[in-house]
Amino acid sequence: MCSVTRDCLWQPAEQWVRKRSPGSFLHCRVGSGQATYHRFDSRDRQHLITYGVRMIAAKHQPETASGWLSGREIRKRGYFGGELSTLNLLAHTCCHEFAHLLQQSAGQRRRGSVHNRHFYTILDELHESGAAGATREALADQARKQALALPDTPFEPVDTRQHLDRWQVGDTVSFGAGLRELHGQIIRVNRKTCTVDGIGSSKGVRYRVPVQMLSPLTPPR
Ligand SMILES: [Zn+2]
Repeated sequence: MCSVTRDCLWQPAEQWVRKRSPGSFLHCRVGSGQATYHRFDSRDRQHLITYGVRMIAAKHQPETASGWLSGREIRKRGYFGGELSTLNLLAHTCCHEFAHLLQQSAGQRRRGSVHNRHFYTILDELHESGAAGATREALADQARKQALALPDTPFEPVDTRQHLDRWQVGDTVSFGAGLRELHGQIIRVNRKTCTVDGIGSSKGVRYRVPVQMLSPLTPPR
C-alpha cells in the first residue's frame, strides 16, 4: 500500500502539490494498530500517511470490514461498482488518505470539518480520473508478485431481508449510481431490490436499486 500510494497517487500529483507547498514530500509507513491517517507536519513539510496493520487485517473479514468509513464510501458513492472486497477496500483506503493529502494542500482541511464537500470532490476525482483504478490494479499486481492473498471476491451480501424491512413504498431515499448520488421515492419493494422513481435531477428515471445501497433521504436544510 505504501509503494502503490507513492507510485500511483503521489507521483502524478507531486508537481501540483509542490506548487502549492514547495519542498513538501510524502512518507508512508505501516502502523502497528488500527489507526490509519494522513498528517502534515508544517515544520519539515512532511506528509505522513500511516496504514494500520490491524485495519488491514480487519478488512479481510466481512464482519469487521463493513464498519469502516471506506466501506460506506464504496457502497454509498458507488466506487469500484459499489462492491466490497478486501482489494477494493484497501485500494480505496489508499485513495481516501491521499485525498486528505490533496485536500490539505488545497487548504481545504479545517478543524472539525475533515470529511467535507471539498474532500469528497477530490475523492470523486481520484475515482473518475482512473487513479483509483490504477491503484487497485497495482495493489493486485504487487500482491500477486509477493504471493500474498488479496481477495477481490465480493463479501457475501449482508442479510437483505433485514435491510428490506426498513423500507416502505413512499420512502424517499438516496443511492449512488456511478459516482453520482441520486434521489428517489420507493414505488415497490422487491425481493432484493427496491424500485425507485427518481426525484429532483433524476425525475422521470426509474431505478432498481440493491437494497444495501439505499439510505434514507434527509430533507435538505
Ligand atoms: Zn478520512
